[in-house]
Amino acid sequence: MSIVVLKLPDVKQKMEGRPKQCPYCEGATFQRWGCVNKAVKDVRVRNVKVYRYRCCHCKRTFRHYPEGTTRADQTERLRVFAVVLWTLGLSHRASSLVLSGLNVLVSFMTIWRDVQEAAKRIQKRNQWKPVRVLGLDGAHVLGWGAKQPVLVAVDLGTGEPLAVGYINEYDPQAVKRWLQLLVQRHGITVIVTDDLSSYKIVAEKLQLAHQVCQFHVRRWVGKTLKQLHETIPKEWLWVLEEIRHLLNILPPDGSRTLYALWKRLPGRRSLPSQPRSALEQLRDLLLRLSEDWQNYCTFQSEPEIPWTNNSTEQAIGRMKMRECIVRGYKSWQGMQSGLMLAGTYTT
Ligand SMILES: [Zn+2]
Repeated sequence: MSIVVLKLPDVKQKMEGRPKQCPYCEGATFQRWGCVNKAVKDVRVRNVKVYRYRCCHCKRTFRHYPEGTTRADQTERLRVFAVVLWTLGLSHRASSLVLSGLNVLVSFMTIWRDVQEAAKRIQKRNQWKPVRVLGLDGAHVLGWGAKQPVLVAVDLGTGEPLAVGYINEYDPQAVKRWLQLLVQRHGITVIVTDDLSSYKIVAEKLQLAHQVCQFHVRRWVGKTLKQLHETIPKEWLWVLEEIRHLLNILPPDGSRTLYALWKRLPGRRSLPSQPRSALEQLRDLLLRLSEDWQNYCTFQSEPEIPWTNNSTEQAIGRMKMRECIVRGYKSWQGMQSGLMLAGTYTT
């Protein structure tokens, strides 16, 4: 299991500095109007000092809460902590029990509400957020008692999930419809994916720059080269070395080099109904790599574009942390918020 780092908000025991503006009017000068000790529910702090102020302009009084606290009993930190317990796979009731072990009494209904609110906050924050480089990857998560295909979109600027869709990544039409909306909303210009053909089709249709994850490419090409090593005539073994070398250094003109190699190989001799010979398989490989080469090197044009889709896979890993314990969500809505929370609140 990966290490979980909690991103918890800070809680201050008293306010540093005075209020800047009256919550009721434009007033900016205040008189201090007393001070109360407010008991709070938190994992570290038991109470905070809350000052009251009176606006010199409208004469109304208001409370000025220290960082991380509001009029609610729970601190912001406790809210997030409760949500994190839930995203790690505990039920609302079990999360409440863990907190009572820390001497913080919060009902499971409150935790349920915290989880709903956190999901809404993420949704709101993500709605119009600008995103330039988007990672995409399909995942299968447990929902409604069976494995369901979902497509996860990750903002590669922050590593946080942007959206999850109930979509099969093998269906280019469905991927396109869903992605088009995200592209319009967030201004996405680059996608990073594995080299599934549906992503290639969609990137072309939506005119997006495309980076194909090099871990994936190296994995499948490495496997293919190993097989070919056993099967092709010895005098062509140097071609395999050449391919390996090109993938290691990813030169921008690799496409041309691969195409030239393709032309040096003897043409197709087997009939369409016959299985391809080893040398013909090597030819197909050269052509495919030559055609896709540009999408292997997109990252060289801008430092913001990663050369692998690692961050997306990590976000999916965090989402699955919750999944493996709850064994299924009741609805797509619930599943979506659960996945987004798990992917956002842990790193
Ligand atoms: Zn005022």
